[in-house]
Amino acid sequence: MSAIFAAEHITKTFGRGRSQVQAVKDVSFALAEGQVTTIVGESGSGKSTIARLVLGLMPVTSGKMIFQGKDVTHLKGRARAEYWRDVQAVFQDPFSSFNQFFTVGTLLSRSMRLVGGKVGQQRLAESLGYVGMDLSVLGRYPHQLSGGQRQRVMIARALMMRPKLLIADEATSMLDASLRVNILNVLTDLRDELGMTILFITHDIGQACYLADRVLVMEHGVMVEQGRTDQVIFNPQHEYTKRLLADVPKLHEALELEELHEIVEPS
Ligand code: ADP
Ligand code: MG
Repeated sequence: MSAIFAAEHITKTFGRGRSQVQAVKDVSFALAEGQVTTIVGESGSGKSTIARLVLGLMPVTSGKMIFQGKDVTHLKGRARAEYWRDVQAVFQDPFSSFNQFFTVGTLLSRSMRLVGGKVGQQRLAESLGYVGMDLSVLGRYPHQLSGGQRQRVMIARALMMRPKLLIADEATSMLDASLRVNILNVLTDLRDELGMTILFITHDIGQACYLADRVLVMEHGVMVEQGRTDQVIFNPQHEYTKRLLADVPKLHEALELEELHEIVEPS
């Protein structure tokens, strides 16, 4: 596997003394280029902290991160802005990351200018096209969009930069089942058509297995398991993974029938 990104023994500790929280403990993993990797684990297991560390939104307490062969552990200023052309993210609640006074057009072009890119109509149209939208949405305000549309706009915004790595942290968690499948399929299309590398973060092992080439499992800040999706499903090594899988009794059957969509879109 050719890794586009690698985290080596990364640790993140919040606070001091008694109120100290070790959110991420000595975690190592690699993201294979052009694949979807998912991080799955219960709430509080450290998933979003990993996303923020990978993005360089806060410093690691210790450890090292490599992107395309370069050390990106302590990026600042311009180097970090350049990194953000290649590494983009979408979060859980698109409404909170929207400025309600901005139209979709302003939102998309502003984020691109922030990292020094030029905004062309063609780039806008392509980015919206990837998420099944078109230029007619540019004049709309966030409150004029549905939850699913807002999340697709946020993905389009991330795509404006043509990132090499897209991180989606619980990006489908606020959506109902049919919209969720739609977003998951947008992500697999990005992998298949653009060769984009995707890090998809979810508390839902059903979605993790539906989407992923590889699955990483987090428990209390520790990465307890990682492997190819089929290996994790059919031959989980860790008790915690087995417990997560037990919550989705139909998973094996769905995988064998190649009907994993039944897991994320119950009929
Ligand atoms: P997840 O995304 O898996 O739900 P998080 O990474 O958000 O988990 O949180 C992991 C742990 O770190 C939790 O105990 C959380 O309370 C703590 N934590 C996260 N961010 C902060 C912060 N900025 N300050 C203090 N503790 C934090
Ligand atoms: Mg989280």
